[in-house]
Amino acid sequence: MFYQCPKCKTCWQHPISKCPNCFVQPERIRSNKAKVIGVSRVIIPTLTHPIVPYFALVLEDERGNRWAQKSVKEYKVGEEVSFDSESSPEAVAIWRVKYDILEAIEKIVELIGGIKINQNSKIIILPTLIFPAHPYLGENTNPQVLDTVIKFLIQKGAKAENIKVAGQSFDEIPIEVSAKKSQFLQVCTENKVGLLDLAKTKFVKKTADSFNFEISAELYEQDIIINLPTLNIHPKLGVSGATENIFKFLNKRSYLALKYLFASEQIFSKINESLPENILTVGEAMNVQKKNKFTVLLSFVLAGYNMVNMDRVFAEICMLDSLPEYLKKTKIENIPVIGRKIKEVQFNIETI
Ligand SMILES: [Zn+2]
Repeated sequence: MFYQCPKCKTCWQHPISKCPNCFVQPERIRSNKAKVIGVSRVIIPTLTHPIVPYFALVLEDERGNRWAQKSVKEYKVGEEVSFDSESSPEAVAIWRVKYDILEAIEKIVELIGGIKINQNSKIIILPTLIFPAHPYLGENTNPQVLDTVIKFLIQKGAKAENIKVAGQSFDEIPIEVSAKKSQFLQVCTENKVGLLDLAKTKFVKKTADSFNFEISAELYEQDIIINLPTLNIHPKLGVSGATENIFKFLNKRSYLALKYLFASEQIFSKINESLPENILTVGEAMNVQKKNKFTVLLSFVLAGYNMVNMDRVFAEICMLDSLPEYLKKTKIENIPVIGRKIKEVQFNIETI
């Protein structure tokens, strides 16, 4: 993606609000083709790039714009670099956010087969919202990612009044307090979308084997459901990401009772049978929390329809020494990974 001033034709690799010469807003210009014009083979590992060898490519698009990209696959000068999309529900797409979150969201959604939206589509977005914390602490979904996803949906044809951002408090902290401090409230107000406290919605009873769930009725009235977790490493859970976030669609009482009786993985495998199909998960790994609560700047996003696969891919990216119980049965080699390769973004999160 490049940003070009429509007047003086100056190009930038990063988004800027106005051209410093003409004071007009640059246009976003997509690169459709990327040709390799330079290759360097890197054989010395570093903390952020522990997997070697890899290749540092210099790419050039059809307009002569150039940029660098890491690749685990070797390319020859003159070859074209492309990324295939995959519409399998098991697939997980990975994309790195360079400067522009919108570019990354557009790319991962396209990679997993796109999304069909019209002006009547009713959409619910469930970001991680667990703590009244400033964005840099990485407790909740990054508000810039939430803002970008809303703008992306509107750009695709959705109406702001048909979009809801949902949350629910499972502790003593009122959801409004968390929404304000996390800057979600501001994002919702600016985009004119509603903030929905799931605790105030009706819940419907669903049963799967001996498990009884009370799931928000709102969910069954939507055309599109977007699970928008922040992906983190958790001291007890191992990974706190896509699957953990989905529990917020349950009634608090039902959730606490189930948590008391069963392990998360047992609840998840059953709740998944009761949830509507085709929940799109967009996982953000902008500032990722380690077990010690310090954050690491990762800057990538994942997308897919299988939440367990997404958490498994995230655990692999972070090179966790031991997998949490609920991810042990999911073999990484069976997950179709599209976009960037795991090895291109992988590093040991605990040693960095
Ligand atoms: Zn200009």
